[in-house]
Amino acid sequence: MPAKKINPARELLFGNLWEYDPAPESAPAFIDNRYGLFINGKFVAPKTKKYFDSISPRNEEKLSEIALAGAADVDAAYQAAATAFKPWSKLPGIERAKYLFRIARLLQDRAREFAVAETLDGGKPIKESRDFDVPMAAAHFFYHAGWADKLDHVTPGRTLVPLGVIGQVIPWNFPLLMLAWKIAPALATGNTVVLKPAETTSITALKFASILQDAGLPPGVVNFVTGAGETGSAVVNHPLAAKIAFTGSTAVGKAIQRALAGTGKRLTLELGGKAANIVFDDAPLDQAVEGIINGIFFNQGHVCCAGSRLLVQESIAETILSKLKIRLKTLRTGDPLDKNTDIGAINSKAQLTRIQDLVAAGISEGAEIYQPACTLPKNGFYFPPTLFSNVSQSHRIAREEIFGPVLSILTFRTPEEAVEKANNTHYGLSAGVWTDKGSRILKMSTELKAGVVWANTFNKFDPTSPFGGYKESGFGREGGKQGLLDYATLH
Ligand code: NAP
Ligand code: MG
Repeated sequence: MPAKKINPARELLFGNLWEYDPAPESAPAFIDNRYGLFINGKFVAPKTKKYFDSISPRNEEKLSEIALAGAADVDAAYQAAATAFKPWSKLPGIERAKYLFRIARLLQDRAREFAVAETLDGGKPIKESRDFDVPMAAAHFFYHAGWADKLDHVTPGRTLVPLGVIGQVIPWNFPLLMLAWKIAPALATGNTVVLKPAETTSITALKFASILQDAGLPPGVVNFVTGAGETGSAVVNHPLAAKIAFTGSTAVGKAIQRALAGTGKRLTLELGGKAANIVFDDAPLDQAVEGIINGIFFNQGHVCCAGSRLLVQESIAETILSKLKIRLKTLRTGDPLDKNTDIGAINSKAQLTRIQDLVAAGISEGAEIYQPACTLPKNGFYFPPTLFSNVSQSHRIAREEIFGPVLSILTFRTPEEAVEKANNTHYGLSAGVWTDKGSRILKMSTELKAGVVWANTFNKFDPTSPFGGYKESGFGREGGKQGLLDYATLH
């Protein structure tokens, strides 16, 4: 038997323990060699005749070829969605509910397969895609199935009228879950959809198309056009779009808002964030440390609401920093298909470069870096969990969204200073407060300019709970009753 390797970090903490063996997930992902566009209920070849490769950030191996949709393909998708809109919007809510319910059940049936595909294509740890992304995606369809026949009760005395064809563009950090956030409320309210997944993570959307076929969803109700930014731009600018729903970067969000000005199209934007996670000296510290770790390292930090700016009360700053360093040594970075992995692969080379650049800026601007010793896989895109202490508010790492496993630690003395520092950002998507005092939680949550404020927890999501931002984090809400209102007009 080959000698087992000893993990130096574990050895340091717990003495001379043996390293765990790898425990790779073995369920098959059933990824086709090539995917066409999903238009009018069928997979079709792109009119561009072009395909692009989808690779796995886990090891840079090619997974599949994905059709590149041009303007004519996007137009075909919109025509199909416009034709499907009439019968779909007239269908009684209870009938639409049955389709949504069926979709949710089919996704549950194939949960393992979708989790593996999501991890292979996007790089997130299998334990997250298995326990979070796929179950939450199904939960969104279940939740909206419940609403479809109760739309008259959303706003009593008023009726929700669907908008028409919705153009949707989603990012690469939660590919299947963002798809569910977008499609489920649109269908529940009687709209039809043209959706573009992100270039690096189209596979689960295309696999999801087969679920729509199995559910017997009428052709054209949901269409998928794949490609990069140019395809996204064709989706946004198509004249048949009644509304655009976008999740992604603030820069692209602003460009979309400019492009739609004066067109009469509705728009919701879910953009970036730079959330403050605020820890007071009366907080349960070990619990807070777990919340900080989850807040920044969940999904490699590729999370718009990540707790990327830690604000710690000065009297406990040293204690928290040393507890965080100890905890960081126990995080396992590496193969996302391994069930023991905490931090998987960075989604793309481009994103890895962006993280590296911002970390280099943090060092050159004078912040103090800490990274635990860890061996990263040779192939693929990986970045170790990273802490920066001695961060000041003007540092780029305190202002810009890094979208990676990098935490910036700042301190405060009074609650007023915490609020001022937390709100000192262009963004306003989420925040966290850790304290023993209920009254302080209530006061902080009214003063923090953030769409979601978590108290003594972080990164908790539920389909019933609306999610969305202030300021440059965008506008409109997803989830809950509020999310439905963004897909309808009130009569
Ligand atoms: P992005 O460019 O905004 O991508 C989001 C989606 O928009 C993707 O489907 C993208 O296509 C598409 N897109 C790109 N240019 C477009 C255009 N001109 N018109 C319409 N659609 C367009 O974001 P990114 O470049 O992937 O990531 C950059 C940064 O954005 C990250 O570092 C992070 O800070 C932030 N981000 C935020 C979120 C969030 O959840 N709020 C998610 C992802 C990224 P392709 O990807 O196929 O090019
Ligand atoms: Mg990929």
